[in-house]
Amino acid sequence: MVKLKCPVCDKGNLRKGKIAEAMFGVSLGAFPALICSKCGESFTDEETTRKIQAAAKKKGIWGLGMKTKVTKAGNSLAVRVPKAIADFMDLKQGQEAYIHPEKDKLVIEK
Ligand SMILES: [Zn+2]
Repeated sequence: MVKLKCPVCDKGNLRKGKIAEAMFGVSLGAFPALICSKCGESFTDEETTRKIQAAAKKKGIWGLGMKTKVTKAGNSLAVRVPKAIADFMDLKQGQEAYIHPEKDKLVIEK
């Protein structure tokens, strides 16, 4: 078998294995991948990538990550929550939510 060098760290070799895929905290199952023995980076082929997309679409979470604009609301800033995300989280107008930073992320918990 030809040894494949990892294109990320350039030190490890790629080995066949399985990776557990998740998107937005929702598990999509285990998929075959090539995994680097050094840095742990994993690579999936086109067919597997398509299968992961199909699993995400089936669970209704495909495309939930999207751009939004930060606007001004009085002295505060407001972030528009797109309908698809509000529906996915079952977030309603007037509902209380907990907001906190996580490094460069903004987390909103219902
Ligand atoms: Zn590597």
